Amino acid sequence: MALIVQKYGGTSVGSVERIQAVAQRVYKTVKAGNSLVVVVSAMGKTTDGLVKLANEISPNPNRREMDMLLSTGEQVTIALLSMALQELGQPAISMTGAQVGIVTEAEHSRARILHIETSRLTRHIKAGKVVVVAGFQGISSTGEMEITTLGRGGSDTSAVALAAALQANFCEIYTDVPGILTTDPRLVPEAQLMDAITCNEMLELASLGAKVLHPRAVEIARNYGVPLVVRSSWTDDPGTWVTSAKSQGRSLINLEIARPVDAVEFDTDQAKVALLRVPDKPGVAARLFGEIARQKVDVDLIIQSIHEGNSNDIAFTVMTPILKRAEAVAAAIAPALRSASNPKADEAEVMVENNIAKVSIAGAGMIGRPGVAAKMFATLAEAGVNIQMISTSEVKVSCVVDAAECDRAVTALSKAFEIEAGENSLETGVYPLGQAEEQGSRGAEESSSPPPLRPSAPLPLRPSALLPNCPPVRGVALDLKQARLAIRQLPDRPGMAAKLFGLLAQHNISVDMIIQSQRCRVIDGIPRRDIAFTVSRMDGENAKQLLTQVAAELGWGEVVLDSAIAKVSIVGTAMVGQPGVAAKMFEALAQQQINIQMIATSEIKISCVVAQDQGVKALQAIHTAFGLAGTEKFVVPA
Ligand code: ADP
Ligand code: ASP
Ligand code: MG
Repeated sequence: MALIVQKYGGTSVGSVERIQAVAQRVYKTVKAGNSLVVVVSAMGKTTDGLVKLANEISPNPNRREMDMLLSTGEQVTIALLSMALQELGQPAISMTGAQVGIVTEAEHSRARILHIETSRLTRHIKAGKVVVVAGFQGISSTGEMEITTLGRGGSDTSAVALAAALQANFCEIYTDVPGILTTDPRLVPEAQLMDAITCNEMLELASLGAKVLHPRAVEIARNYGVPLVVRSSWTDDPGTWVTSAKSQGRSLINLEIARPVDAVEFDTDQAKVALLRVPDKPGVAARLFGEIARQKVDVDLIIQSIHEGNSNDIAFTVMTPILKRAEAVAAAIAPALRSASNPKADEAEVMVENNIAKVSIAGAGMIGRPGVAAKMFATLAEAGVNIQMISTSEVKVSCVVDAAECDRAVTALSKAFEIEAGENSLETGVYPLGQAEEQGSRGAEESSSPPPLRPSAPLPLRPSALLPNCPPVRGVALDLKQARLAIRQLPDRPGMAAKLFGLLAQHNISVDMIIQSQRCRVIDGIPRRDIAFTVSRMDGENAKQLLTQVAAELGWGEVVLDSAIAKVSIVGTAMVGQPGVAAKMFEALAQQQINIQMIATSEIKISCVVAQDQGVKALQAIHTAFGLAGTEKFVVPA
C-alpha cells in the first residue's frame, strides 16, 4: 500500500462535473489500496477573479488582506471535493493550510514553508479518510498566526512539501496538459511530451517561464528526493516523471529555507574573449558563434551586454588550451562585423584575458531569494576581489575574477555560505545532477554531511559523451513577465555589484539575468562599466526609482528601464561540451530577423532577451530549430 499525494490544478477542478471526476479518480486510487492526501487549487480562474476584485478597490492592496482574500479560493474547493468523495461513500475530510499546520514565514504573498505538522494528517489517514488540503496557503508561526499564501501557482509547492513531510511514496500533479512538454503547447501546438526530465532541467525551465510546475515545488522534490510526476486530469496516461537523486536525509525543519547554497565551485582553467563594439543588429551573434562552432571550439559562459549607441559587447569564456583557436576566430571575424555595419565606427576590438577564474555558488535554495547573490557580491567585495563578469541561472551565480584572486574568493565564499572543504576530487564530479542521476553514478548530491567544494572543470567526462542519445536541448521556455534595467557608468571597483544588488535585495527585488559590460571607460578619472539585469516586470518601476535616487547620490550614470522585453531560453543538461548549441539558437533568431538584446548562459541553459512583440516568434523558431516540434498539433482543453 502506497501513500500518495495528488494535486489537482484550477482547470481540473473548474466545475462541479470536474470536481466529481476528480473524486472518481481519488476513489479509484483508494480502492486500489492506497492512502491519499489530495491538494487542490481554487476552481478555474477564481484566484484571478479575486485579484481583480481587490484591484477594483485598491491599486496597491495590503498584502495581509490579499492573503486573507486569496486563500478563500482553495477553501471552496476542499469542501466541495470532500462532499463529492463522501457522496461516493469514501470517508474524507477537508483541511485548510492552518488546520494541517503548514507553518510558513510571516511573509505575506510569498511565504516559504518552514515545516509541516504531520500528526493530524496521519491520524485521519489511519482512520481511513482521504484528507483534502487547501493548496497555496499556510499559517505563520510567529506573532499572530497569520494566514499566508505561497505565491501564485503555489499549490504545486504545497503538494510536494506535503509529500516530503509525510515521506509519501510519490507526488502526482494533475493538470490540463498530459505532462511536461518541450515548450508551452498554447504557444507552440507542435510541442511534444517528454517521458522524463531531470529536476535540474525542470528547475531551470520552471524558473524561466514554464508555468506547468512552480519552481519551488521542483526545488523541494530535488532537495528531498520526492518522486514527482505531472499527468493529465483527463486521461490515464503515464505523464512525465521529474527525476531526482535518492532521498538525502535532509532535516524537515526550515524546509524551504534551510540552506540556499550547497556548493562553491571554481574553475581556474578559463580564459575570456571579448568582442567590443559589434553592431547591434540581427545575425551578429549567429555569425560569430557559428564560426566558433565550425572550428569546434566549445564555449562556456556567453554574455552580451546592453548596447550603447548602436553597438554591443559580446564576451565568452573557453578553456585555456583552446584560447588561441577561439581568439583567432574572433580576430578573423571582427573586421567583417565592423565594416558591415558602420565603416566609420571604431573597429570591433578583440580583447583576450588569460588569467581568469570562474567562481560559482550553486544551490536550488537561492530561487527567489534576492539576498543570496547580493551576499556573494558583498563577500567578494570584502575580500577585495573585483568581479569582471557575472552570469546567473536560477540555481547558480558565477563570477569571473582574476585568477590570482581565485583562492581568496573561494575561501571567503565557503566561509560566508558555511560550506566546508570536503573531498576536493574530480570524481565528485561537477556535471549537473541530472547526468549523475541518469548514470546512477552518484548518489545524493546534497548530503547532510559537509558539502564538498567542487572544482568545476575540467569535466571528468563530458555528459554528452556519456549520454549519446540525449538531445542537447530538452525544453524551450518564454518569459514575458520581465523588465530590463540598465545602469550606465558604474565605477569598476570591488563592491559596486554588492552595493547595487544588496540594495535591491533589501527591497525584496529578485534579480534574474545580470550582465556587466566588457567595455570600460574612464570618466572623471574613474574606470566605469555599464551593468544590465532583468527583474520581474512588477518590480521594474520600483527598482528604477530606487536606483535613480541612489545613482544621483553615488555619481552613477543614467538608469534605464525597458519593460517591453521577452526572455527566451533553451535548457538541457547534455548541452555541456557540445559546441554549436548556442550558434544554432542565435542562427534561428537571425533567420527571423530577431535582434538579441542580451545573452546569458549557465552550463545547462542559454537565455536571450529580445523585444517583447517578437517573443512568441522567437520561441517557435528556436523550438523548430532544435527539432523539438512533433507532427501532431496539440490543443489544450479550455
Ligand atoms: P494548473 O492550474 O493545473 O496548476 P497551470 O496553468 O498552472 O495548471 O499549468 C499548466 C499550463 O502550463 C499548461 O496549460 C501550459 O499552457 C503551461 N505550460 C507552459 N510550459 C509548459 C511545458 N513546457 N509543458 C507543459 N505545459 C506548459
Ligand atoms: N490558486 C492559486 C493561483 O491561482 C494557486 C495555484 O493554483 O497553484 O495562483
Ligand atoms: Mg499551476
